[in-house]
Amino acid sequence: METMFIGGKWLAPQGGETIPVIAPADGLEFDRIGRGTAHEIDLAVAAARKARAGAWGRMNATERGRILGRIGQLVLDRVDTLAPLEARDTGKPMTTARNDIIVLARYFEFYGNAADKVHGEVIPFLDGYAVQLLREPLGVTAHIIPWNYPAQMLGRTLAPALAMGNATILKPAEDTSLSALAFARIALEAGLPDGALNIVTGYGHEVGAALTAHPGINFATFTGSNEVGTMVQQATAVNVVKCVLELGGKSPQIVFADADLDRAVPIIVKAIVQNAGQTCTAGSRLLIERKVYDDVLARVAEAFSKVRVGTPEMDLDCGPVMNPEQKKRVQGYIDAAKAEGIPVVAEGAFGDGLPAGGYYVKPTIFAPVPRDNPLAQQEVFGPVLAAFPFDDEADAIALANGTDYGLLAAVWTENAGRLTRVAKAVQAGQVFMNCYGAGGGVELPFGGTKRSGHGREKGLIALEEMSSTKTLVHYHG
Ligand code: NAD
Repeated sequence: METMFIGGKWLAPQGGETIPVIAPADGLEFDRIGRGTAHEIDLAVAAARKARAGAWGRMNATERGRILGRIGQLVLDRVDTLAPLEARDTGKPMTTARNDIIVLARYFEFYGNAADKVHGEVIPFLDGYAVQLLREPLGVTAHIIPWNYPAQMLGRTLAPALAMGNATILKPAEDTSLSALAFARIALEAGLPDGALNIVTGYGHEVGAALTAHPGINFATFTGSNEVGTMVQQATAVNVVKCVLELGGKSPQIVFADADLDRAVPIIVKAIVQNAGQTCTAGSRLLIERKVYDDVLARVAEAFSKVRVGTPEMDLDCGPVMNPEQKKRVQGYIDAAKAEGIPVVAEGAFGDGLPAGGYYVKPTIFAPVPRDNPLAQQEVFGPVLAAFPFDDEADAIALANGTDYGLLAAVWTENAGRLTRVAKAVQAGQVFMNCYGAGGGVELPFGGTKRSGHGREKGLIALEEMSSTKTLVHYHG
C-alpha cells in the first residue's frame, strides 16, 4: 500500500482505509493508496506552516531554484521507471506517458531557473519618499489535480508555487496518485526541506473538500470539472482565500477554405484523439467553411479512420478512458447522438487483442451536428469530434463563441488578416494560428475565460498568481 507524504515522512491514513488502484487498460487492481481524511489534511497544513516558519521559509531564491533544478534532473534520470508507472495508472500509450514525464521535468527546470529572477519594483512617489514593491510567497498553497495528466499537472501547479517559496499541499486524483507519490521520493532526494511538499491521497469529497475549506491555507489552485470547481470557489471564499480554476473546454478548430490541409488535418485528428480525448484542451469541435465542407470532412474522416486504440504497451494513437464511469459517460454521448440520427462520419478501431476488462471506446466523428445539441455544447471528455459547417467569418466567430467555455481555439487560414481578426475575436485563453497546443507549452500562459475558469498557470505569469505584493513606503525626508 502506498502511504501519504506529510512533513517529509511517509504516513498511513489514521483510519487505515485504502482505495484500490485500477489499471484502465485491463480493469485489474494492481496497488492501493491511502484513503486520507480531514485529520491528514490538518497534519499537512501544520507541516506546511512549520516549513514556512523554518528552513524552507528562510531559504533564499537561488537555493530554492537549485533544489527545483535537481528535482527536474532526477525526474529526467528516472523517466524509464516513471513513464511505465504513469502509463499503467492512466492507461495512456507509453510514448505519451514518457512525454508527460519529460514535461514534468521541464516545469521544474523552467521554474527552478526563474526562482531568483522575480524582481520587485521601485515606484516613483512624492518628494522625500522611496517606495518599493516586494513579491512575497502566499504561504501555504493547496493544489488539487485531476487524473488525465497527473505527472504534467503536478509539475505545472507545484513548480511555480515552490519557486516562489510557498509550502504546498497536493491532493492528486484518487484514480491516479502513483506518479505524485513517486515524485515525493524524488523531491526528498533532491533536498526539498520537510513540509515544503505534502501529499494527501484520498477522495475529493473527503480530503479535497477538507483542504479547500481549511482556514490554514492561503491559496488554492484546482484543475478539474466545472461542478467541483464551483465547490472549490465557494469553499475558499469562506476564508477569503484566492483560487485559480482550470476547468473544462469545448475548443473549436476553425478551418477556412484556404487552409493548408496537409498541415491541418493530422493536427486536427491528434487534438481530439490524444489521451483518448480526455484533455481539457481537446479540439472537440471542427468548424469548416461551407464551400469546402465535404472535402475537408472527407480528409479528416480518412485520417480519423486510421486511428487505433490500444494498451500502453501497444503504444498506438490512444488508450482506454480512465474508469467505468468515464466509459459510460463517453459511450452515452455516442449512443445518444446515434439514436438521434446524427451521421457518423468516421470511427477509429480497436487494436488486436485488447484485454476484455479495459475501458475502451471507439473514437468517433459526428457531422453535421446541430448547434444546440449536447455534442455541440457539452464537454464529452472522450475521443468524440463534432463537426459543423459555417458560412463566413462572422458565422465562424459566432459558432466558435457559442458555448459556455473559452479555453483554447485554433484558426486555420492562409489569409494573414483573417487569421489575426478571428484569433482576436474568439473568446479563449489561448488561440493557435495554423498550429495547435504544440509541445507542452510550459512557457505559455494558460487558462480559460467564461466557464473554463479564471487565473493563469504556466509561463512566468504563474509566479505572479502564486505570490503576493507588499508595498513598502519609506519617508526619508
Ligand atoms: P473532478 O472535478 O471530478 O476531480 C478533480 C479533482 O478534484 C480530483 O482530485 C478530485 O478528487 C477532486 N475533488 C472532487 N470533489 C472535490 C471536492 N468536493 N472538493 C475538492 N476537491 C474535489 O475532475 P476529473 O473528472 O478528475 O477531471 C476531468 C475534468 O477536469 C474535465 O472537466 C476537464 O476538462 C478538466 N480539466 C481541466 C484542465 C485545465 O487545465 N483547464 C486540465 C485537465 C482537466
